[in-house]
Amino acid sequence: MSKKVLIIGAGGVGGVVAHKCAQVPEVFGDITLASRTEAKCKAIAAQIDRPIATAQVDADNVPETVALLKRVRPDILINVALPYQDLTLMDACLEAGVDYLDTANYEPLDTAKFEYKWQWAYHDRFKNAGRMALLGSGFDPGVTNVFTAYAAKHHFDEIHELDIIDCNAGDHGHPFATNFNPEINIREVTARGRFFEKGEWKSTDPLSVSQTYDFPAGIGPKKIYLLYHEELESLVRFFPTIKRARFWMTFSDNYLKHLEVLQNVGMTRIDPVEFEGKQIVPIQFLKALLPDPASLGPRTKGKTCIGCLVKGVKDGKARTYYVYNICDHEACYREVKSQAISYTTGVPAMIGAKMMLTGKWRGEGVFNMEQLDPDPFMEALNQHGLPWEEKFL
Ligand code: NDP
Repeated sequence: MSKKVLIIGAGGVGGVVAHKCAQVPEVFGDITLASRTEAKCKAIAAQIDRPIATAQVDADNVPETVALLKRVRPDILINVALPYQDLTLMDACLEAGVDYLDTANYEPLDTAKFEYKWQWAYHDRFKNAGRMALLGSGFDPGVTNVFTAYAAKHHFDEIHELDIIDCNAGDHGHPFATNFNPEINIREVTARGRFFEKGEWKSTDPLSVSQTYDFPAGIGPKKIYLLYHEELESLVRFFPTIKRARFWMTFSDNYLKHLEVLQNVGMTRIDPVEFEGKQIVPIQFLKALLPDPASLGPRTKGKTCIGCLVKGVKDGKARTYYVYNICDHEACYREVKSQAISYTTGVPAMIGAKMMLTGKWRGEGVFNMEQLDPDPFMEALNQHGLPWEEKFL
């Protein structure tokens, strides 16, 4: 039953996916890791005590990726490059007849805009080709969608309110660094906040809405900020009883102070500016200066807590339910040489692929996580390093 997997993207998340696939040889019999820079793939492969093949590929280039897919002949492509590559990789999968999985929705390079419309538009093409594409199999999106589906299946007749709350209580000791790709992270955080209420989307100034939330596992009270996150779009589509859906994230005062200055001086701009006769994009230059997220692993201490706070009704009675995972940065590093942000993304990517390859999640077309049965995925989270807890409040 063991299958072949091709992982594209050898960054923080790609490293975790390679480690975690290698831990499940009964499903992932043959692993290839490809990226723009093959040396990064080889460095990850050298950490793993199973043979991992490596390759160089430019995932923006469809013919080049198709040639790689035809040579490797994987049963699934796990895309953990950047969101900019989602559509070219979906095109390549269709042409080579391979199933597809990613962890973040497509974003055009020149507009910071998170929307599923581009990828949902591939549904008929995947369906007609008899192939499956699974979108957003990270933690948020990903596990948060599965948590919501699990709540809907087991604990609610109707969900009315959903708050997804993402807390990183870790400390990497740098004055300013992002825990995953800095360009993607800063584009997300500096965008206008958006949430869903009574059938419509409402927008807020970036990071202008906040409150304090008391986190479990000794983390305690932290300030959380409302921002837009892509899973809100699919969740309100697939759970139409939801009246209000919001996404919240913690940021330290230090992070916000640096971000404000960088924004004020124009360093987070995503449009090209002329510099000494060359066009440079400030945010890309900033990325080159900031610590590589993959380098934060050995220095990050503390925990993450990501979960869903769900309100609704069951058997005619109001109910509030909280389901969450606690992850420890140092424990992740001991296991797979990565901090918890990459870990909490890479483990669900492996699990999503496992669900597809073992036939627990099958379908033809393009799917979001909450469209599939949450139970086997929830069981796999406990098995593969992301145990969850639940509380009725
Ligand atoms: P990194 O920047 O660390 O890694 C991205 C990797 O993709 C790099 O190795 C890079 O190669 C490679 N890459 C970029 N462009 C290309 C290309 N054209 N062809 C081939 N390879 C390419 O990012 P992360 O690992 O932090 O994030 C990976 C993905 O995970 C992102 O899409 C991010 O949005 C998503 N994510 C999802 C989360 C979730 O919970 N759902 C949370 C965190 C991240 P090179 O190094 O050679 O440039």
